[in-house]
Amino acid sequence: MQVGKHKVVVTRKSIKHLYLRVKSAHQVEVSAPRHWPENHIRSIVAERSDWITEQQQKLATKPQPQPASFKNGTRIPFEGRSYTVVLTQTTGRRNASLKDACIELKLPQPDDINAAIKLLDSWYRTQLKQRIQQLLQVWQPVMNVAASDFGVRKMKTRWGSCNTRTGKIWLNFDLIKKSPQSLEYVVVHELTHLYERYHNARFYALMDKFLPDWRVRRKRLNHYE
Ligand SMILES: [Zn+2]
Repeated sequence: MQVGKHKVVVTRKSIKHLYLRVKSAHQVEVSAPRHWPENHIRSIVAERSDWITEQQQKLATKPQPQPASFKNGTRIPFEGRSYTVVLTQTTGRRNASLKDACIELKLPQPDDINAAIKLLDSWYRTQLKQRIQQLLQVWQPVMNVAASDFGVRKMKTRWGSCNTRTGKIWLNFDLIKKSPQSLEYVVVHELTHLYERYHNARFYALMDKFLPDWRVRRKRLNHYE
């Protein structure tokens, strides 16, 4: 059943109350008493809509561990290239660094996959923020606009977004995995929204002016890098 924006899977059971579980960023599971009318279930789920959204956002930002596929030698993307994970033990601070074709993750317990993924996530985030900062320094004066602030977050369907009211731009966390040209395209795209909110002729004319090859970059970004 669809309740607002939530996809809800309902299981009828011999129980007295309704139980609601947020299983993933996409799905909500509900156990409901057998005799309850569907409307009743619908209204309870609707009442808890904000809470569900909150739980889903928490799930979406959590690193998703893939135990079998994250170990020494695992290939991971960074700036449009593939790097090899090297897990090493340290008694000091956990730390991630780039070495030639490797990304070294130093941890107290290198076999702790969740800790390794968490460290990689925070390193990715720091790297991405630095690159965005550099791009803003280059592009804002060229375009004669300034974002009030920027942030990085995990987004399922978009590479970036711009709040034209506050002037804040958001960039997708996954952009650190894509080439620098792709990241640059998204930054310029979001800054262009500070001139024009909608994807209309004016918007595209501005993009053509600022970044004439933006169509090629968009295609590359959406297809592979
Ligand atoms: Zn846009």
